[in-house]
Amino acid sequence: MWEIIFPKSIGKCNDMINTVLGPISEDELGVTLMHEHIVVDIIGADREGRSYTVEEVVEYVLPYLIEAKNKGCQTIVEATPLGLGRDLDVLVECSKKSGLNIITCTGAWDGSTVKGLSVPEAIKKMSIDEIAKVWTREFEEGIDDTGIKPGYIKLALGDEGEISPLQEKILRAGARTSLKTGMRIQCHIWDSSSVPSAIKIIEEENLPYDRFIWVHADGQMDMEKILKFGKKGIWIQFDGIGTVRKFTKYPPALRKLIEENLIPQLLFGQDSGSFWVKDVKEEWPMRPYAKFFNEFTPYCVKEGIEKELIDKIITENSREVLSII
Ligand SMILES: [Zn+2]
Repeated sequence: MWEIIFPKSIGKCNDMINTVLGPISEDELGVTLMHEHIVVDIIGADREGRSYTVEEVVEYVLPYLIEAKNKGCQTIVEATPLGLGRDLDVLVECSKKSGLNIITCTGAWDGSTVKGLSVPEAIKKMSIDEIAKVWTREFEEGIDDTGIKPGYIKLALGDEGEISPLQEKILRAGARTSLKTGMRIQCHIWDSSSVPSAIKIIEEENLPYDRFIWVHADGQMDMEKILKFGKKGIWIQFDGIGTVRKFTKYPPALRKLIEENLIPQLLFGQDSGSFWVKDVKEEWPMRPYAKFFNEFTPYCVKEGIEKELIDKIITENSREVLSII
């Protein structure tokens, strides 16, 4: 039986969490997957218009959302920031039609090898504090004129084994936005060799470690760094569950985190959903959101991980990390 204690909750001042349909209480989050995509459209940061219609995406994705809901999912943290195709109209329709809570983000994406192409020119020209002001404004007043507020900060950086000057700027801006708003940072980092530099930057910004989530920590499953930085207090997110053919790397990692008492800092997501990068409908790939419930949980249970532990991670840990502090 696992006793999960959250000393971090002490001093919390606000228990409302922003979804695309407005704020909800922490208790309404329920089972929450921390990293899914409803639509991704990599056509550049300063794009005009869409390469699809809202209706066709909603029609395509909705059955998969409903399947996850029927399996017990209540909330999806949508992981697509501006520049990667954040589309609030799609998210609002999907939330209304599926009944799932959907949480969107502020922030910037410079993962993979896009070298700044997904960061809007206007953001690139700003100072760190100016960027933090833009992102803080989205939290306080809403994104553009939609009134929709983000629930967290999403960044992507470090995929080439180092942090570029632009990436350093967005990480510092993310840290300052977190300090102003209480939102946590989901930071996509595939290459674990970039993690020490990212942590050094947040230390320089005096950001508490528990404001930082290492997204895609399971990509390389570098247990040495996961344990090292987990022990400092960062959140570890295993979110490739929808992308892998086999789950074999997960049970040993989970056992190690149990042993080291780091389960209260672990989060789950799948990186599932639709990736709207092709223009031929037949080629639109889709990773179903219900895989976590249909395949991952049963696999872990078979491998000796308690179902109760998995359930706590996707309810209590998710709720804790989404709380505004
Ligand atoms: Zn993702």
